[in-house]
Formats: sequence, structure tokens, C-alpha cells
Amino acid sequence: MIKPQILQQFIVSPGSEVNLKNYVTDWTETDTAKELGKDVIKERANEILAENRKQLAAAQELLYASDTYSVLLIFQAMDAAGKDGTIRHVMAGVNPQGCQVYSFKKPSVEELDHNFLWRYMKALPERGRIGIFNRSYYEDVLVVKVHPEWLGPGQPAKPDKAFWEKRYEDINNFEKHLARNGTLVLKFFLHVSKGEQKRRFLERLNNPEKHWKFSESDMAEREHWKDYQKAFEDALGATSTKRAPWHVIPADRKYVARALVADIVTTAIQDLGLEYPKVSAEKMAQLEAARAKLEKKTNGDKPEALLESGGENAG
Ligand code: ATP
Ligand code: MG
Repeated sequence: MIKPQILQQFIVSPGSEVNLKNYVTDWTETDTAKELGKDVIKERANEILAENRKQLAAAQELLYASDTYSVLLIFQAMDAAGKDGTIRHVMAGVNPQGCQVYSFKKPSVEELDHNFLWRYMKALPERGRIGIFNRSYYEDVLVVKVHPEWLGPGQPAKPDKAFWEKRYEDINNFEKHLARNGTLVLKFFLHVSKGEQKRRFLERLNNPEKHWKFSESDMAEREHWKDYQKAFEDALGATSTKRAPWHVIPADRKYVARALVADIVTTAIQDLGLEYPKVSAEKMAQLEAARAKLEKKTNGDKPEALLESGGENAG
């Protein structure tokens, strides 16, 4: 597991002003990492991921059995930052019945006719489950802040600063409500550099099997890179709280991002200090009775007895 002192640098302190330039996109370029060397880091990161997968599977089972909390993981990022791959790799060991992933696209007309949190509320994980939002209500202060014309009917054509502050406030209140009602919320911004995004787009364009991953809008949104970074800085600063912290995950190296996310999620669930439900005396008596019944050898269980009765019927 990664030491908490190391993980600390990726958490956005509540109330802080965020400058994304102060957060690395390629962790292997930091001084600590350089000392170790890229190969060692890659190997170590993959070990951490594998170890966390096992522990996360166990933690999820306990989460389900104890039926007290639910967990909501939120992923936001620029295109091609690796949301899908991170979700796939981190959750690979978890019982599919214990988790659910929602990928939010452009809202429908029906969704735009409701308050902006409506469609996300309907997708929240039930107690005992891990819910994953691949994009989330944060789109409503990110993509829509860059393109206010996508706000939908009944919204201001030119939203001012106060409009966005109210949305941050709504989000903070919503997450407070979730926390009070037993949902652990963890938020991840996969921080990729513009250069790495270009490399990944080119890879998609050069590889026929990846063509389907490329959409026209990817290029259009890349043109708004600076506006997006600013929107992220504003949103992360305004909505990172102790109860629902934002993590800025260096995402230029996929193995680094996956190891970090896996570790943060696993540790946070383990820190809930869950226990398997205690069995009541009455239930214990039932278990004992069932055991006694199963262990009691009766003639009826013997194969020859079954054969005999089969013979009788046949005759
Ligand atoms: P991929 O990594 O495979 O491209 P994706 O998450 O980018 O996956 P897409 O279908 O390409 O999925 O894009 C979904 C689009 O929907 C994004 O451009 C996103 O900004 C947009 N979107 C999501 N939520 C909202 C929202 N509330 N308002 C407007 N646009 C939204
Ligand atoms: Mg996309």
C-alpha cells in the first residue's frame, strides 16, 4: 500500500485555490521518482495495483455484508485521460454484483427539463454497493461552463459568476447530504497533459482498432483546453471537502494513475472500519440446527436406499 504521506500531495485541500500547473501529470518525472527509475516504478505500480485489487474485492464483500455504507467514485478528466481504463483495471477483481458503473453523456431533453442533479440522483449506489460515475454532475460546472449555450431551457444565456457559485454550493450540499446518509464519496480528476492527449489521439487515429474511440468533438474540445483547465481549477477548489475530497491524479502514465486510484479507494473503504454482521443467538441456534440435520446420517440419504425406492416405483 502507498504511504498516506505520499498520497497527501494528490488531495486538493478544502478551500484552497487550485493551480493545475502545481500538480504533475507525469509522476515519473518528479525527483522522488527519478531516483527510483521508470522501470522500477512501473513494476512497483503494477504490484500495488494487483495487491489492491485483492484487498478491494475483500473490502467490497464486507461493504455488502455490513450493509451500512455505499461508496460513490467520481471520475472526471479531459478526453483520452484514461477514465475507462482506470475504472476497468481498478475494479477488475470486484464482484460485478457489488458495483455499478454509469457513464454520463450529453443530457436528454427529459433530463434537461429537470434540476441538474436529477439524473445523477437516480443513479446513486444503494447501500452495500460501489457506484462509479464516469463523468458526473461535475460536467454541469465543467463542459457547460465552457459552453454555456448547452445549459438547456430556462437557464440564463450568459450565466454570471454567481450562477456557478450557486451550482458549487448545490453540489457541496448534495455531497453533504450523501455523506450524512452513509455514502462515502471519492473524486478523481485524471490530470493528463496536452502533449500526452495529442499522443493518445494520434494513437487512436493511427490504429484502425481504435478509430471508434475518436470522435469529432474530441478535436473541438481540445481547442478549449485552457478554458477547461480553468473550469477544473474553479470546480476543484470550490468543491473539495474533507467529506468528499478531490484527488488530482497524474495520468500521463496509465500504470501510475491506476495504482494510485486503486490504493486510495481500497484504503478509504478499509478505513470505514466495517465488520461482518454479528449473528444473534436465535440465528446461531438456527445454524446449529441446520448443521445437525445435514450431518445426521439417515438411511434415506444412502444411495442404495434411493435405488431401492427407485426400484419399487419402477415395479
Ligand atoms: P470516451 O473516453 O470513450 O470518449 P466519454 O466519456 O468522453 O468517453 P463520449 O460519449 O465521448 O464519452 O462523450 C460524452 C460527452 O457528453 C462529453 O463530451 C461530455 O462533456 C458530455 N456531457 C456529459 N455530461 C454533460 C452535461 N451535463 N452537459 C453537457 N454535456 C455533457
Ligand atoms: Mg469522448
